[in-house]
Amino acid sequence: MVDNSKSALIIGAGIAGIQAALDLGDMGIKVHLIEKSPVIGGKMAQLDKTFPTLDCSICILAPKLSECYRHPNISLYTLSEVQKIEGISGDFTVEVLKRARYVKEDVCTNCGDCATICPVRGVPNYFDANLKNMAAVYIPFPAAVPPVYIVDKNSCVYLNYGICGLCATNCGAEAIDLTQKDEILEFENVGCIIVAPGYGLMEDVNPLTKYGYKKYRNVVTSLEFERLICASGPLDGHLRRLSDGEDPKKIAFLQCIGSRSDRDQKYCSSICCMYCTKAAMIAYEHNNDLESYAFYIDMRAGGKGFQSFLHRGEDEYNIKYIKSKVSHIDIDEDESPIITYEDLDTSEIKQIKVDLAVLATCIIPSEGIDKLADVLGIELNKYNFIKTDPFFPVETSVEGIFTCGCAREPMDIPRSVAEASGAAAKAAEVIKGG
Ligand SMILES: Cc1cc2nc3c(=O)[nH]c(=O)nc-3n(C[C@H](O)[C@H](O)[C@H](O)COP(=O)(O)OP(=O)(O)OC[C@H]3O[C@@H](n4cnc5c(N)ncnc54)[C@H](O)[C@@H]3O)c2cc1C
Ligand code: SF4
Ligand code: SF4
Repeated sequence: MVDNSKSALIIGAGIAGIQAALDLGDMGIKVHLIEKSPVIGGKMAQLDKTFPTLDCSICILAPKLSECYRHPNISLYTLSEVQKIEGISGDFTVEVLKRARYVKEDVCTNCGDCATICPVRGVPNYFDANLKNMAAVYIPFPAAVPPVYIVDKNSCVYLNYGICGLCATNCGAEAIDLTQKDEILEFENVGCIIVAPGYGLMEDVNPLTKYGYKKYRNVVTSLEFERLICASGPLDGHLRRLSDGEDPKKIAFLQCIGSRSDRDQKYCSSICCMYCTKAAMIAYEHNNDLESYAFYIDMRAGGKGFQSFLHRGEDEYNIKYIKSKVSHIDIDEDESPIITYEDLDTSEIKQIKVDLAVLATCIIPSEGIDKLADVLGIELNKYNFIKTDPFFPVETSVEGIFTCGCAREPMDIPRSVAEASGAAAKAAEVIKGG
């Protein structure tokens, strides 16, 4: 029998948190889904297509986003973070800070009239890897869930200087509320907690200067590349160089940037071998004359169909795999990246000029994980991912608190989903009492 007085609370609404919420919701368990950002979907929502099937990422994700939003047993709290917990497994009390959106969620019709009239234009859209600008009132992407606009506190003229308010007068639905305040919510009778705050990327904390990132316009990160090639991205899916708008004819994908190194993160990011080949395949589908170079230390293709995916890359998509260690990137007079590397097959130092270089940067622990771990009392491992036992991969160091997805180590989407279902099953066991 399900104890209807007990609920589950999930932290993070990426694909892992969403899958766990749907599984629990379908079992008849009430779920509070807590997401820090204004929308749900996590990094998967930013991807163009996914390996190994090359399916459109948002096409797979969108039905799950709306199911989650409409599910009678799931209550979604965006712009929210857990700040305190008390109690024990089976009976936690959780305090959540919900930040003001300045738009009423149940009233906004997602028409966009507010953004059309807003005089502020140059706010970088984090969802498009800051490569596209938006107004101070915005929605990060058209299929966003919840389908509700948000006012950016830092750029809004009214919230900083007390003048303007044009969005409020232009909103026919009267959804804008610039007086909204942050709220503290308290959830009692929480039977168990699933922690799924996902991951961050090295470029967020390390300038990657020796690769010329941010200095050379034709050196981008792999997540930026996902947005550049995506039909709904800043270039409307027409891949171009950022320096001169020319179509790239040679692209280099540099794997293990920051991963598996003596100085930075000493672990493997696990997904980059596969997503670099995927990215080169998508680029080839846009331009059949394209030559791609994948610079790798060794290939990690441990998954169903992964090895044959790499063979297809070589045979059908004109990808040349170079076993190498890249030392640095310079540019020539037309801003084309020149890559200097050691060829690990011949031990020679070589150079190659390409039109665009893509850095597969290291997967790092989610921003703020230390603080969250402190609040929950859970242990982190030596790399700052959530600590779990190899034989109990979804259990944290605190009874009744489970984890899944990239919060515990870098992993791909199928594994994140499988772990999410595992965590949901464990959580249901606690709530159903055995
Ligand atoms: C460039 C690139 C390409 C990729 N391509 C593929 C691919 O083709 N195929 C594939 O299988 N995988 C791919 N991946 C991996 C994929 O992105 C991950 O497997 C997947 O996103 C993991 O989901 P997650 O839910 O664990 O984490 P995330 O997607 O990071 O979601 C975590 C969520 O938690 C939220 N959050 C964080 N902290 C808090 C907090 N304190 N409180 C509340 N919410 C919080 C975040 O805002 C986010 O919404 C790729 C990754 C990259 C970087
Ligand atoms: S806030 Fe108002 S104007 Fe803006 S999208 Fe929502 S309903 Fe439309
Ligand atoms: S009040 Fe803020 S968000 Fe609204 S129109 Fe003015 S600047 Fe834009």
